[in-house]
Amino acid sequence: MSINVLIVDDSSVMRAMILKTLRMTGLPLGETYQAANGQEGLDALEQHWIDLAIVDINMPVMNGEEMIDHIRENLEMKDLPVLVISTEGSKTRIERLQHKGAKFIQKPFSPEIIRDTVKGITGIGANDE
Ligand SMILES: [Mg+2]
Repeated sequence: MSINVLIVDDSSVMRAMILKTLRMTGLPLGETYQAANGQEGLDALEQHWIDLAIVDINMPVMNGEEMIDHIRENLEMKDLPVLVISTEGSKTRIERLQHKGAKFIQKPFSPEIIRDTVKGITGIGANDE
């Protein structure tokens, strides 16, 4: 059992860093996909089986919050686990995202927090130890 992950961030450097961190966690990664904004992310979700979306907030074209709204309104995607990773510090916004069923991690992040949060929201175990 492995998880297919979609990473949505307008920074290719950040996408690479998140992917590298995911690989360090020992979580059983399947396919990984990348998108540079919310619209590309939704397109990827239409095209591939994805178990977890990791989403930035501030992006051009469609931001992360709008993307999450579309996911939650879509019958086939509405239960998708979503993890928001952002520099965003606004408590109001973080709480709003949590109400939409997203977990939130602030940048910078550690492999441990990523691992524990992903385990929590996907129900998958890490294959370390
Ligand atoms: Mg951004």
